Amino acid sequence: MAGAIAQMESEKVPPKPPRQAFSIPPAIIRNRKTGAAYITGGLLGEGGFARCYEVADSGRRRFAAKVVAKASLKTQKQRQKLHGEIAIHRALSHRNIVRFYEAFEDDENIYMIVELCENKTFVDLLKQRRRLTEPETRLYMVQLLTAVRYMHLNRVIHRDLKLGNLFLSKDMQLKIGDFGLAAVIKHDGERKKTICGTPNYIAPEVLFDQQNGHSYEVDIWSLGVIMYTFLIGRPPFQTKDKDVKAIYKKIRDNVYEFPSNAPISLAAENLISNLLHTRPECRPNIDDILNDPFFTTPPVLKSIPVSCLNNSPETS
Ligand code: ADP
Repeated sequence: MAGAIAQMESEKVPPKPPRQAFSIPPAIIRNRKTGAAYITGGLLGEGGFARCYEVADSGRRRFAAKVVAKASLKTQKQRQKLHGEIAIHRALSHRNIVRFYEAFEDDENIYMIVELCENKTFVDLLKQRRRLTEPETRLYMVQLLTAVRYMHLNRVIHRDLKLGNLFLSKDMQLKIGDFGLAAVIKHDGERKKTICGTPNYIAPEVLFDQQNGHSYEVDIWSLGVIMYTFLIGRPPFQTKDKDVKAIYKKIRDNVYEFPSNAPISLAAENLISNLLHTRPECRPNIDDILNDPFFTTPPVLKSIPVSCLNNSPETS
């Protein structure tokens, strides 16, 4: 839930709370209510508020445990946000969403037991690969779109879709995680007013139309940023010095380029431009996107081999 409190962080330099905010979890994590026990393994990574460990249950099944020190939750609002994240994530079940198993606490920490994603995040993938091919992008985008369609049908907006929140399972399936900024639309037409997101991925209406608020279309915008980043290797509105104000100006003015030295297909360019429409009501909905010519252009991959963590499918 990194973004939940430090809502305007950059993906490159997430603010870290003071070290003492994290506590070391016990060697065996126990759910006192059910008696379930997990052996704590290695550290997988850490975010704004959580440390994530690999754990195994008594049947040697492996999971990821997100551990949040109670001491790091200083305000009632912070506690409510974490409980909101748990309630939303727990209610979702889709093959392209990190599976939520259970949440419990002891005196020190709150634990969330979720599906282990062995192949890390798309930040790690792009570090290795620099950019993805169009066939890979097509398949990953379809997986992402089916998960977002499911979330939206269940009235959940993720509001922080970005490479660092897209995980890869052992069998190279994309999984959306981290519901720290997610919100539920309680009635049709409800508009959210909280400014939140990550600078490179944030939709213009969140920044510049706070009166009207925002809704599901912010996730569609982020899909455009993600698709561009997959294909080009950096986010569309990024500036050289990564100055947040300059990024917001580019988002407001819809200024981004398709570099001529790394050309992508016209179908890909057109789809990205539609997703990155300044006016939220002009962005396509998920079904329109899935019917876009980009998704029917061959070759259409059925799966992606693990070798694509390091090499493009053409060379592996
Ligand atoms: P935050 O939400 O505070 O950003 P997370 O707990 O989501 O932090 O993640 C911190 C890091 O832990 C991630 O960047 C990733 O490296 C790792 N991680 C998180 N969830 C998983 C998971 N389900 N499987 C494998 N690694 C994970």
